[in-house]
Amino acid sequence: MKIKEYRTQFIDALTPIYDPGEAESFFYLILEEKKQLKRIDLALHLDLVFSDEEILIWNSILEQLLKEIPVQYLLGKTSFYGLDFEVNENVLIPRPETEELVEWVLSNNLIIQKSKNLKILDIGTGSGCIAISLAKNLQNAQVFAIDVSEKALVTAQKNAKINAVKVTFINQNILETEDLRQQFDIIVSNPPYVRNLEKEEIKKNVLDNEPHMALFVEDNDALIFYKKIAELAQKNLSEDGQLYFEINQYLGKEMIDLLEKMNFKNIELRKDIYGNDRMMKADLSL
Ligand code: GLN
Repeated sequence: MKIKEYRTQFIDALTPIYDPGEAESFFYLILEEKKQLKRIDLALHLDLVFSDEEILIWNSILEQLLKEIPVQYLLGKTSFYGLDFEVNENVLIPRPETEELVEWVLSNNLIIQKSKNLKILDIGTGSGCIAISLAKNLQNAQVFAIDVSEKALVTAQKNAKINAVKVTFINQNILETEDLRQQFDIIVSNPPYVRNLEKEEIKKNVLDNEPHMALFVEDNDALIFYKKIAELAQKNLSEDGQLYFEINQYLGKEMIDLLEKMNFKNIELRKDIYGNDRMMKADLSL
């Protein structure tokens, strides 16, 4: 069958669930991954065909997309901050909002790193996306990353290798950590922050497939990770160190209160590309 014809069939089959633009983007993502062909190649060679065997493979991918399994898990990879990352059901799929957090950290540290070897800690690293993209862009930095999930760390290690960076990964439960036993110039975290009461807002593809331990917190203790990390930062952030968080869009005010109460200074709250309160920066300077 001509690939062009199969494309129409594939997109039509997906449009009851996805919008046509998204269905089309899935088609080209898979085409590139499975056949190393880009949109332009298909436009230039209209007669390219799929073998029967290829159609079977594509149909099985189609079936899984119809079950709303994220395309990134089906392909086993995604891209984040211009880098390739392996992903699977043990790690959250990196989000564009988190790229904005990385951008913020980098914009404040690209110059500082020239005169200082920054020590950075990412708490709840998951796929390693934050730690690895910081390590890639701050070449003199020493980067550490903690996660409670051993399985996530296996993936994060692979991602560090794929991207040729050195990150020291540590398997540790941050909620059971009393002291980090080192001083860091930057502590960054995108911890679980979705309250159970917000489950209704979470899309089925996320809810059914992504690791709940990376997403959800109890309604009555939604800031549990932030409280703990801020406490650790009080002890383990260097004198002019910076603390960065990705946060729940509905809890910006509560986060400011929390950090103010804990004596943090220069507290900044920023919105993401969607206009939601999404990230914070603070420090302990006098
Ligand atoms: N932003 C993610 C989502 O909405 C949640 C990430 C997190 O809990 N840290 O699915």
